[in-house]
Amino acid sequence: MKIGILGLGLIGGSLGFDLRSQGHDVLGVSRQESTCQKAIALGNVDQASVELSLLADTEVVFICTPIGLIVPQVQQLIAHLSPGTVVTDVGSVKAPIVQALSPLWEHFIGGHPMAGTTDSGIEAAQRNLFFARPYVLTPVDTTPRVAITVVEEIVRSLGAIIYHCHPEQHDRAVSWISHLPVMVSGSLIAACISETDPDVLQLAQNFASSGFRDTSRVGGGNPELGVMMAQYNRQALLGSLQQYRHKLDELIHLIEQENWALLENKLRSNQQARPNFVD
Ligand code: NAP
Repeated sequence: MKIGILGLGLIGGSLGFDLRSQGHDVLGVSRQESTCQKAIALGNVDQASVELSLLADTEVVFICTPIGLIVPQVQQLIAHLSPGTVVTDVGSVKAPIVQALSPLWEHFIGGHPMAGTTDSGIEAAQRNLFFARPYVLTPVDTTPRVAITVVEEIVRSLGAIIYHCHPEQHDRAVSWISHLPVMVSGSLIAACISETDPDVLQLAQNFASSGFRDTSRVGGGNPELGVMMAQYNRQALLGSLQQYRHKLDELIHLIEQENWALLENKLRSNQQARPNFVD
């Protein structure tokens, strides 16, 4: 197939690696000429350009730009496409994107691969990034069956596990397991560096090991991505943050009261719940 990728960064570049290795003809468009040259040299794409017209003959286009650019980029792109071209995006938020693009392009289907790293840009792209990871598709009532099938087949070929849900359900679910953790983990780092004794702060930095590495990882990632999560999934994220604050207050109260039995109960039920989210 002739497949287009718009936005050659971590996700777009990683998709390019895998799609090329399956024999697809992969055409990439990015903002900077230097990124296009790197993507060709690294083997992410067969051809690359800063011109959207490169994607004119593609059968499917994956939009992999930062969230805030997905809608404006598709608005420009569609002038170059034939009506049957399937367009899908990889944005971490779905409702505002699907609401804007479904009326604009008949063969549009929203998507979100639940895979990534804290690095960004074409040099961060990895092979098999999507293997055995969830990939959410968010068709709506008007999404043509053919668009769903085409994207499903490509996603399945990446080795990803396909899920379907409504865009709004997606946004609430990722608010809990992706967007809230970015804010919580960021607040953890911010709290640590608020230590006023420089010697204690230095010791904390020296002592930090695997536990801190795990819990601070997503809070130490790309700030622009974090801002976009908050901006585009504001309502769901605020709801999750308020519930999280409530849970923290409960813990503070139990520790103040020295209610160790109830604290243990709470921590035990957390321990039992965790395997329902991750192995
Ligand atoms: P990224 O590494 O920063 O890549 C985005 C790329 O888009 C940049 O490398 C940039 O390329 C290009 N770009 C920026 N403006 C552009 C424009 N106007 N036209 C064309 N290309 C443009 O970001 P990413 O992590 O791959 O994220 C991309 C999308 O994937 C986002 O929508 C995000 O929500 C979603 N996503 C991210 C993750 C994650 O963990 N990172 C996971 C799932 C989904 P230049 O070098 O040419 O400027």
